This record gives sequence, structure tokens and C-alpha cells, in this order.
Amino acid sequence: MSAYPKSPVMGQMMQKPMLISSLIEHADRYFGQSEIVSRRVEGDIHRYNYTECHRRSKKLANALSNFGVNIGDRIATLAWNGYRHLEAYYAVSGSGAVLHTINPRLHPEQITYIVNHAEDQYLMFDITFLPIVKAIAPHCPTVKGFIMMCGREHMPEDSGVPNLLCYEELIDANTDDFVWPLFDENSASSLCYTSGTTGHPKGALYSHRSTILHSYASAMPDGLNVSARDSIVPVVPMFHVNAWGLPYSAPLTGAKLVFPGPHLDGKSLYELFEQEKVTFSAGVPTVWLGLLNYVEQNKLTFSTFRRTVIGGSACPPAMMHTFRHTYHVEVVHAWGMTEMSPLGTACSLLTKHMALSEPEKEAVLTKQGHVLYGVDMKIVGDDGKELPWDGKTYGNLLVKGPWIINSYFKNEGGEALEDGWFPTGDVATIDADGFMQITDRSKDVIKSGGEWIGTIDLENVAVSHPAVMQAACIGIFHPKWDERPLLLVVKKAGAEVTKEELLQFFEGKVAKWWLPDDVAFIDALPLGATGKILKNKLREQFKEHKLPTA
Ligand code: AMP
Repeated sequence: MSAYPKSPVMGQMMQKPMLISSLIEHADRYFGQSEIVSRRVEGDIHRYNYTECHRRSKKLANALSNFGVNIGDRIATLAWNGYRHLEAYYAVSGSGAVLHTINPRLHPEQITYIVNHAEDQYLMFDITFLPIVKAIAPHCPTVKGFIMMCGREHMPEDSGVPNLLCYEELIDANTDDFVWPLFDENSASSLCYTSGTTGHPKGALYSHRSTILHSYASAMPDGLNVSARDSIVPVVPMFHVNAWGLPYSAPLTGAKLVFPGPHLDGKSLYELFEQEKVTFSAGVPTVWLGLLNYVEQNKLTFSTFRRTVIGGSACPPAMMHTFRHTYHVEVVHAWGMTEMSPLGTACSLLTKHMALSEPEKEAVLTKQGHVLYGVDMKIVGDDGKELPWDGKTYGNLLVKGPWIINSYFKNEGGEALEDGWFPTGDVATIDADGFMQITDRSKDVIKSGGEWIGTIDLENVAVSHPAVMQAACIGIFHPKWDERPLLLVVKKAGAEVTKEELLQFFEGKVAKWWLPDDVAFIDALPLGATGKILKNKLREQFKEHKLPTA
């Protein structure tokens, strides 16, 4: 595999392929009693440990092997975060097949497209998704069987789904006498399609090696800081870039795992956090909005929750401030992409920051942060020339590293790299200490009179207003400036604020020429399948909007 020259003196260390099965083997052997707790789709709480999880993963691996599943075959899941999904993670990848996690929030037509594109052989799904499976089954000729992740008592009498199998029956019918096969660590392990706001989704095909390296790096103290003393709730779904690697880094460290199932509202999360003594969690800003609202309205505090990773979209400074000051929860602002397994950067302070005032520390922590060892990044202008790390100059962000894609699955979209670097599509600054800050997605930047206006800054200011729940900024056609910012705002329940008051609130907080030209109040922002605001929908919805300055 290696294209590099060999030294005449090679190191004399053991060769052991880095395989995903080694993670669950390790967790079973060294942290066998560490718990895995799941709020099930069925409604109750399920509780077992890594030893039991390993045993059932081997039973599932035997079931797949009896079906004739081969190394490299794709096996899909449509499932919430839960213990059966975790078993599928290990049974499928561990046996050498490829785990294809599908986002159930995609349109059924898109799901059909990716099942066919991936040529999935089996599809495992939670009860909740039976209607989706019914709709897509007739259009997915490669799928030989649909495995419903439940016991016999929950199986439908007459589902209309061909070859419908019961997960628990497969577990019962197979022994745990299974030896994880050894194979090349560069073999494909899992497949995740990008959310694809335009065009068809494209597949990022991870390898065992890339997954293990990503797990090591992400668990480090200035990464996600995962340890055997943690009780972790991955709120980020296991179908969104493998829950940011937590189903791998938790067994690597022996941490307790707590799965929320489909219940991601503030009340359900808070109860789970308290019951299971959760110390650490990870999710997108929209989920934390729900949790913070619930805790605030009910005047609650967290007993054990100490740290949360926020990523997927920019974490508003106001949210970070509330977590840190009101609830004493540390926020790790992280950035990454499906194409990056996903972690690229995480924000932790340096020694020199420790003497700063709280507002100064927060100003640093608001950035997306430092690369994890293994990732390299740079910013370039439209001419491809590298730009300075001065914290002010912004440019297109490019990355490289062993857990970043080389090409999309089946080479979809052609060459994915530019001169060996992956273009992220994000626009960012990097400061002299190497802290990166995202200004915008390049397609969302507002181009006003030849200059760029970053929408994240404007949105951050808007959501720091006490009456604002959510905000999104988009560029609207302007005859003189090409584009000018329109701010779309969802007010907090029962709160009032006028357009004039909001615009006044911006004064002194951003450059004068960045001030939005107009504000529109709306009931809700359209969210995509991974909780991101769909700005293309907003641009479509407001394309006829007439700015007062136009
Ligand atoms: P996805 O592949 O769906 O995870 O989306 C990746 C994209 O989400 C990135 O390219 C960014 O545009 C955005 N993103 C992820 N994390 C952050 C963050 N912390 N701040 C701003 N944007 C983010």
C-alpha cells in the first residue's frame, strides 16, 4: 500500500493492523463492567456493559456471516443512538463489511438513492422507521433483507416489507463463538453520505486505520478529552458522521456510554443527564438551545454535567457564556466535516491565556480552535496563494491528514483534492497561535461592493439579544452593492423586540457597513437533516424581498 521508499534499516516492532474490532475487544477485556445505558425506542431504559455488548456484537457478526455477507459488503442502518446500533457498528465493521449509517431525516427519495448507490445488502432499522422502510423497499433491489431492531413482540403482523427479519431472533439464534478476522487496516469500515444541500449526496468512505487514528486523536485532552471517568451522552446522532467518533473513543478509553434514543427534547435529555450522572456530551447548537430553555424555565442546575462539545454549526458566544457562567459547564467548540471523520479542530486555551479575564478567555474559546495532531490546515485566496495567520485575513480553508477523504465513494464528483489538500468550502481566519475561526460557508458569504460580510458574526450578535431565540443572515440582491444582509429572526416565546431596536443593538458591535439592511421576523428557521439552518431555502423564500435601502 505504501508509496514511500523503504529504509534499509526497518523498525523491528510488531505489525498489528489497526482494526475497529480491537476497540470493543479492548473495552470488554479492560473495562468490561463499564455501563452502556440506552433510552430505547420502545420507551424503557436498557442497561448492560461492554462485555455484554461485545458478546452480542459477535452473535450479530455470526448472523451476518450466515447470510453470506462478505468483506467489503455494505450493510445499512436507519437507527437512533442506542445499544443495538452500537452492536451493528462493531458486528458489521468488525467482520470486514462496511457500515453505512443513513440519516433518516433525509427525504425517502434521497434515502433510496444512497441505498442504491451504496448497493447495500442488508438494512437494519429501528421500529420508528418502518414507514420509511415500507416506502423505499420496493425501490432497493440490492437489499436482501430488512432487519427490524426489536424483539419478536414488536414485529408487525403484516408489514408488506419483503424479507423482514427480527433482530433479537437473529441474536438468539446465533452463538457468540466468533473470532474477529484480521485484514488490511486500510480496508473500508464505514460509509457516510454528506447532507448534500445541492445535488446528490456523496459518500465519505472511512477505513479502519483512519477511524482508529481519529479515535486516538479525538480522545486527547485538548480534543474531546474522553476518559474512563466520563459518562458520555452522544446527542449527535450515530448517523451523523458516526456521532463524532464517540462510539469508538468511548470504548477506547472505557468511558460509560449513555444513548438518548429518539428523545432529544430538553426534558428527556436533562432527566437522562441527572439519572446517569453524565459528565460530558456532544451535539449541535440547536439541541443545546432546547436543553438550556428547559433548564432555565424550570430553574434547574446540573449535578454532574461538566463539559460539552458543540459543533456542526458555529456555537453562538451567548450560548457558550450561559453554559460556562450560569451552569458551570465547559464548552469545547469543535469544527469538522463528514469528509474529516469528522474532527479537525477543537478549542482549548493555551497557558498564556490562563491569566486573561473571563471575557477575553471567551473571545478565544469562541473560535473553532486548534487542529488535532494529524490534521494540517491553511487558508488561501481565490488565486490559491496561502494567506497570513494574523487572525484578520480570511480565505478558503484547506485541510489534509490521514482521516480526511482522498476521494468520494465511487469517485463521485471527480477529483476531490486541490494539490493534495481537501477544500472544505469554509471561509476562515487563522491567528498567530494557530487558532482557526470560521467566518462562513463560502456559498453563504455576503458579497457587498466587492467585500465579504461573514454571516456568523452577525448571527452571533443577534442571538445575544435577550428577545432572540435564533437568527440567520442571508445576502439579498442590491442594485448598488450586489448583495446586502437581511437578518431573519425567531423571537423567544413571549418576548418582543422591534426591527429598529435590533438594528440599534448591532451598533458598535460590528463594522458599520456590515449592519443588516433589514430584519424580518419569522416563526421558525428551516433546518436540514443534521440540524443546520438551510440558507438556500431561506434565500429562495426571500428572493423577492425588497430591501429598504435598494
Ligand atoms: P457536515 O459534513 O454535515 O458535518 O458539515 C460540515 C460543515 O459544517 C463544515 O464544513 C462547516 O461549514 C460546518 N461546521 C461544522 N462545525 C462548525 C463550527 N464549529 N462552526 C461553524 N461551522 C461549522
